[in-house]
Amino acid sequence: MSHASVTHNVTVMPGDGVGSECVAAVRRIIAAAGVSIAWEECEAGGVVFRKGISSGVPRETIDSIARTRVALKGPLETPVGYGERSANVTLRKLFELYGNIRPTRELPGVQAPFAGRQVDFVVVRENVEDLYAGIEHMQTPGVAQCLKLMSRKGCEKVIRLAFEMARAEGRHRVHCATKSNIMKLTEGLMKRTFEEVAREYPDLQSEHIIIDNCAHQMVRYPEQFDVIVTSNLNGDIISDLAAGLVGGLGLAPSANIGNDVAMFEAVHGSAPTIAGKNIVNPTALLLSAVMMLRHLGEFEAAATIENSVIFTIELGKTLTPDLTDPDHAASTTQFTDKVIEHFGRKSDHWKARHYHALNPPRVSPRSDYVQVKSRSIAGVDIFVESPLDAGALGESVTALLADSPLRLTSISNRGAVVYPSSDARVDCVDHWRCRLMPRGNTREATDAQIAEALARIATKHAWVHIEKLQAFDGVNAWAADAGE
Ligand code: NAD
Repeated sequence: MSHASVTHNVTVMPGDGVGSECVAAVRRIIAAAGVSIAWEECEAGGVVFRKGISSGVPRETIDSIARTRVALKGPLETPVGYGERSANVTLRKLFELYGNIRPTRELPGVQAPFAGRQVDFVVVRENVEDLYAGIEHMQTPGVAQCLKLMSRKGCEKVIRLAFEMARAEGRHRVHCATKSNIMKLTEGLMKRTFEEVAREYPDLQSEHIIIDNCAHQMVRYPEQFDVIVTSNLNGDIISDLAAGLVGGLGLAPSANIGNDVAMFEAVHGSAPTIAGKNIVNPTALLLSAVMMLRHLGEFEAAATIENSVIFTIELGKTLTPDLTDPDHAASTTQFTDKVIEHFGRKSDHWKARHYHALNPPRVSPRSDYVQVKSRSIAGVDIFVESPLDAGALGESVTALLADSPLRLTSISNRGAVVYPSSDARVDCVDHWRCRLMPRGNTREATDAQIAEALARIATKHAWVHIEKLQAFDGVNAWAADAGE
């Protein structure tokens, strides 16, 4: 059933709540399938926070994952009052687990809003960039900002992962879901990268879809989707929506893929109210472990376990209380026994896909991933906190820059132009973006001119941050305001 001679080293983190019961079930089933795994059992989550380690992940766990490069993880809670950070986010960032793969497939016999529709698709979510970079600042006492950082390298890795995964799973179509119609530079970067990379995969259909329409289509016609690649926040939302279509988070598996490390986990949390009662449904972690076995090249054992768990669920006789009448439900142990007993059985209505090894994408590690031949500074945006109205602030800044090489061209408030003139009825806040450009026919500004203009403005106003307006290879690299 497996490569009997190969022993795989895997870090296992039982985690919190129901985690240890799920992990115990999964380890028994994998052992019964004949796969040899040397498990390195490690701590993470609640128990670690309570020891005073604020990252939730101790050094021994990090060293183990760095050694084995493959981890199976139970849910980790973020106890309020112990650690500030999420241990899950710590692990994702530590090992640059840039791609989150969340398959959504209807399971026969499971009651769900979309049962019978043959839903079977995978969301591939960028996992480390976007608004989740955690770069947040209060800019004024009443105005908050979170930077949405997306890189060409980050987009390219996750997009290539989605195409490679589509090939490995024998899928035909890859959608890229973005909000590029509004965020032309960040979400637009993902769309443009997708369109370029798609040319290297002529065997696969590729299509861009606006994320809000994607959510709508997922509910109207979910059968049309095969693979959806998307940015971090979009993916967070639509992958939960996807899980809801076919029976909820309790059945949803996931993989977190990095350049060197892969970590597999159920989507659900630690379910503290049912922990320790031997009633948790281990299916989500089990299906995550099936993804792990494929990652380890154990395709046959993966198919045996997958077929058996689907058969057991469809048969409907030995189900945990979340899937059946609690008075006639089975325990976690009984369900686990049945899955092992049913090795070799298959559903008549559900076929395991034919999987090949995934060819992991490799991109250059250099930090200056995109290089240009020319660049210039066309001006600067200086963000100012001020209780003045737009007209008074505009006149004041114009006067302060009277004999400066840079002049005030416009002021906007949360993206809407309010100075020198505007038809917009903007309910202004005390956060103003003053756009400065060179006077006359000069097309470029210098760092020295920007510093001097900033110093002048600072004599009367509180500036909060500045952004250069740059052009790369002659292309303006900033967004125009609404109304500009
Ligand atoms: P949860 O997923 O733990 O529970 C939501 C509901 O689903 C509960 O009613 C629970 O009993 C049920 N449920 C979940 N998994 C189940 C399973 N396998 N079998 C049967 N029933 C199941 O979500 P929550 O209550 O919001 O979170 C609890 C804790 O888990 C929090 O500390 C949270 O931070 C953490 N969490 C961790 C992860 C992770 O590690 N990836 C994910 C989500 C939540």
